[in-house]
Amino acid sequence: MHPKKHLSFAALRHSMSEHFGKMDDHRQNGKVNHRLHDCLMCAFAMMFLQDPSLLAFQRRMQEERQFSNLSNIFQVQSVPKDSQLRDCLDQVPTDQLYGIFDNWLHRLQRGKHLTDYRFLKKYYLVPIDGSQYFSSNTIHCESCLRAKSKKGAIRYHHQILQAVIVHPDMRQVLPLAPEPIQNTDGSKKQDCEINAGKRMVAKIRKRHPKLPMIVVGDGLYSKQPFIDELKKSGMSYILVAKPDDHTVLFQWVNELHALGDGGSLEFADKKGRLHRYRWVNGVPLNGTADADNVNFFQYELISKGKATYRNSWVTDITVDENNVVELVKGGRARWKIENETFNTLKNQGYHIEHNYGHGNKHLSMNFFVLNLLAFYMHQIFELTDRLYQQCRLKSSSRKEHFGLLRHAFQLLPARVKRVVT
Ligand SMILES: [Zn+2]
Repeated sequence: MHPKKHLSFAALRHSMSEHFGKMDDHRQNGKVNHRLHDCLMCAFAMMFLQDPSLLAFQRRMQEERQFSNLSNIFQVQSVPKDSQLRDCLDQVPTDQLYGIFDNWLHRLQRGKHLTDYRFLKKYYLVPIDGSQYFSSNTIHCESCLRAKSKKGAIRYHHQILQAVIVHPDMRQVLPLAPEPIQNTDGSKKQDCEINAGKRMVAKIRKRHPKLPMIVVGDGLYSKQPFIDELKKSGMSYILVAKPDDHTVLFQWVNELHALGDGGSLEFADKKGRLHRYRWVNGVPLNGTADADNVNFFQYELISKGKATYRNSWVTDITVDENNVVELVKGGRARWKIENETFNTLKNQGYHIEHNYGHGNKHLSMNFFVLNLLAFYMHQIFELTDRLYQQCRLKSSSRKEHFGLLRHAFQLLPARVKRVVT
């Protein structure tokens, strides 16, 4: 067994700093007072410290000690005014930031941390799900999705599709680069989650050509065109399939089961609850002539004679009595993107729905991505950094923990070791 390598703040910040330093700066030379690096890093530092106000953050950073900490810890040379920072970030195409997600994942891989995320020996589970992080009747930009109410009022939204690497037994989730669900130049048609899903699958494969992945999705995704896209990208899948959406599939399953095809497994746990599994391999996904054959499995949890949980999925992995329990755990790990990711970002101090500034082009999405990177960095520390884990245990909640961190930043002079490369 190889020892796992600790990923330090200095190493992660250094890779981020390098990435920011290499990005194209489209601003006109004469008008630039602050480096692009410093604008991006100031915004990241604010997210890292979970500060709810850009203006208050910017003002505090004028104080000598706080500026000194910002400069020592985050390598910032000068602090832009809040309006300068917003103007600068609005111009940065969001996908320029995505290399940081790849870099950190490779570091986790090299540090042997991904081995804990292996699922069914060789795969990584990648749940995907959409979420809305902005909505307004008045504030909007070029990328906003638009929805008309019955009375004709327009409401503006920003939504993203997110993919994260998870494991049923691991608390930390590892986000991949998000895919915006947004209107692009000239397109009159509103973008939608399933189209974003197809784009995202192709992009993930391009960024991670060799990573064996199982994409985990809800009932929206268990449709032929999306499964075709997964096949094209060489990805496996576990996708929710409900009887109402898949009448033909369920007819096949029920008939084949009645003929003794497929299998079933049942056992009681220590609490006396009954776990019931059923599966059939090689059934058509739908009633069309060129329908794919998929493998079907379902699970019921029965407590005191009543089913307290029931779900069913389709997969390309052949189901048998040796893997059905794991496959169900994989399908159920989808809640980790709702609970451990979106819920944490929305309700645990990250202020992801807070409007730090909307901009005309990329600002809203860039703030979202920098916040997601702060969350990712914290997840890496929780996973790999014993000192961070000990500090985190001293607080009863994430909010309290980051409150302490902000106060320490205000009061204590800090030094961070330089990274020698
Ligand atoms: Zn917008």
